[in-house]
Amino acid sequence: MIRLNDIVVKFGDFTALHNINVHVKEGEFFTFLGPSGCGKTTTLRTLTGFIEPVEGSVLANGKDITHVPIEERNIGIVFQSYALFPTMTVYDNIAFGLKVKKMKKPEIDKKVRSIAQKVDLTDEQLMKAVSQLSGGQQQRVAIARALVTDPAIICMDEPLSNLDAKLRVQLRNELKKMQKEFGITTIYVTHDQEEALTLSDRIAVFNKGCIEQIGTPNEIYNHSDTEFVCNFIGDINRLSDEVVNEMIAHGADLSPANHNYIRLERIHVNVPPKAGDMTFEGVVEQMEYYGLYIKYYINLGSEVIKVIEKNDGVNIYEAGETVTAVMNPKDIMAYPADGKE
Ligand code: ATP
Repeated sequence: MIRLNDIVVKFGDFTALHNINVHVKEGEFFTFLGPSGCGKTTTLRTLTGFIEPVEGSVLANGKDITHVPIEERNIGIVFQSYALFPTMTVYDNIAFGLKVKKMKKPEIDKKVRSIAQKVDLTDEQLMKAVSQLSGGQQQRVAIARALVTDPAIICMDEPLSNLDAKLRVQLRNELKKMQKEFGITTIYVTHDQEEALTLSDRIAVFNKGCIEQIGTPNEIYNHSDTEFVCNFIGDINRLSDEVVNEMIAHGADLSPANHNYIRLERIHVNVPPKAGDMTFEGVVEQMEYYGLYIKYYINLGSEVIKVIEKNDGVNIYEAGETVTAVMNPKDIMAYPADGKE
């Protein structure tokens, strides 16, 4: 549906994007994820037509749109700030793009009301000024305005970042539901790992103007291609040479020359080891009680590892207790020390 081929973008001498390649499928929820300044927004702006690449091409349904102006690209955009007109009514905000297209009034009315209903905006809200609505309601207006022109794809740049934590989670779920209902191809920009993991069909992880990995949330999280990806997405333990060498001494296929990592939930406390598991005795330095789960910091002597255990309400270990950490070398993600591969 959308293809970015070998996109290079420069700002003066600075290369913001180095050979970006992305292929977004029809109906997919595709996320650009990465830390601040890595090039997510620049990639999105190249796709939407605000920026022209110095090299590479943008294809939509096989057609080269690299030099097609924004307004002819048939792409709906939801910005971080929503870019709504605060003093205009919700109705007029949503109708704006249709008026620009010189659509007739009755047709505009039909479309505005139909889309408003789909994103749960009431008739009463339609007549209010945007400034009178809550953050979450404004977000719905921004989405309605982007969808009302029947775009082929919708692009969203950090649309939840202005909202408080609770509303973010609530709207995240609504957004996902809406996207599946509309079946619209969506490209979403965020620096929030959890948001990317919960919303996306696939994620592209950006770092310093390059894409490090493209994959499903599970591929990115459990099979991180690079050291950067494994550190950026979720929490992780880097295992000490002592722990790694002990595993090797017991036949594990690992190398101490690599950087060896294991996710927190792959380590268990005081459970009977299964075939291939290794056990390490340690002392709980700190216990954090989250309700749904418990986080332990366990001192193994050579390092303090973090562990996440489900809270069964019974097996809870306090600081100072001696425990056994159980892990399996097959759960280790290993990267060459030069970090290249
Ligand atoms: P954030 O999450 O902070 O928005 P981002 O990943 O979206 O970050 P971009 O906005 O794409 O990052 O910026 C990528 C790099 O390009 C940054 O180093 C930024 O300073 C630079 N940059 C972006 N726009 C311009 C511009 N118009 N002129 C010069 N440099 C720019």
